[in-house]
Amino acid sequence: MIRIALLGATGSIGAAAQALARAHPDRMRLVTLAARKNADGLLRAAEEFGVRRVALVDPAAAREARSRFRGELLEGEEALIRLAADPDVDVVVNALVGSAGLASTVAALRAGKRVALANKESVVLAGELLARVAAEGGGTIVPVDSEHSGLHQLIEGRPRGEIRRVTLTASGGPFLRRDPSTLGAVTPEEVLRHPTWSMGERITVDSATLMNKGFELIEARWLFGLDPGQIEVVIHPQSIVHAMVEFVDGSVLAQLSCPDMRLPLLYALSWPERWESTLPRLDLASLGSLTFEAPDPARSPGLAAARRALAAGGTAPAVLNAADEEAVGLFLARKIRYVDLVPMVEEVLAAHTSRGALTLDGIRDADAWARRRLLDSAGARSPR
Ligand code: NAD
Ligand code: MG
Repeated sequence: MIRIALLGATGSIGAAAQALARAHPDRMRLVTLAARKNADGLLRAAEEFGVRRVALVDPAAAREARSRFRGELLEGEEALIRLAADPDVDVVVNALVGSAGLASTVAALRAGKRVALANKESVVLAGELLARVAAEGGGTIVPVDSEHSGLHQLIEGRPRGEIRRVTLTASGGPFLRRDPSTLGAVTPEEVLRHPTWSMGERITVDSATLMNKGFELIEARWLFGLDPGQIEVVIHPQSIVHAMVEFVDGSVLAQLSCPDMRLPLLYALSWPERWESTLPRLDLASLGSLTFEAPDPARSPGLAAARRALAAGGTAPAVLNAADEEAVGLFLARKIRYVDLVPMVEEVLAAHTSRGALTLDGIRDADAWARRRLLDSAGARSPR
């Protein structure tokens, strides 16, 4: 029986984790839950799973919820760190969104936990540092991001010298077939209609610009110790093949499954075992065909931006992430146009002088600087 801390319990991945806990009560138990401010969702889950220790990051939400909860209710960002390092927990599911997830990943790895990591931002911001912290604290990351779960399944335990290159697939998002010259007028509603995956808002917008895939390049580089030049992206609209690896002898292995985040999450929880599940099964004959194509740079500006951040190294990926998080927020609030989103992020990245020798403080400073800079440049633009 594994004891789980579920951070980000009220989100899309959080819901997938709840579904697995419901389906496998003999294998796993949720022992702590955390969310930002959705007290109703959090307390409902606590009630269902009999959880006695929860956290709300937002102090006002926590204060309001306290009278309705009989167990222990922690508040603030430090609460996430406490839950991540809790001695009564075996696995931390980090399903937080954004840079807010980094501190819990670090705390869990330091405390020697297994981290089922959906929060890719942790690796984007601090990949180099996480490897060090994990080695010192004895913790392990098992990725939940579907492409990296696929890669983990394909290459775990293999000497890096046997791997020639890896490929991450991307669905291409809602604008795969749209004339790029018409993208100026797209609305948040159109962007939020993802063709194959149902996800939180930020990652859905990032999937349309392919910034999400760009973050995944960075994530793959650090999780698997690959050179940036060894990682490729291919568009695969059906989202059935999640990752491929080409070995030095020319043989290619691929990982295939239905697009359903419960599966990579189950893999991260059951690893190094595999557990029987009732998740949807793949039926290739009824799918008929799987197609692949090269990404079109005009529809995938996020990829080039991420390659640049990866090449600059140090704090540049943190700047990329923070500027993008703010720009996505402005786009969703209808303050900037879709086509301006990535160019604004690139502007911030170009103005940044990357600092190596990553520390948490250095990352925090770079993150704060990038947000300010992005918001300043948005303020300086005339409203559309
Ligand atoms: P979501 O927006 O649906 O949920 C986010 C969760 O984090 C919520 O529980 C929310 O309360 C909490 N949260 C948000 N901001 C916070 C803050 N500042 N401090 C503390 N908690 C905060 O997001 P999601 O789609 O579930 O994504 C979660 C993570 O998983 C992201 O890093 C995303 O990139 C990654 N991921 C998601 C999917 C997917 O299918 N949804 C796939 C791959 C990777
Ligand atoms: Mg992914």
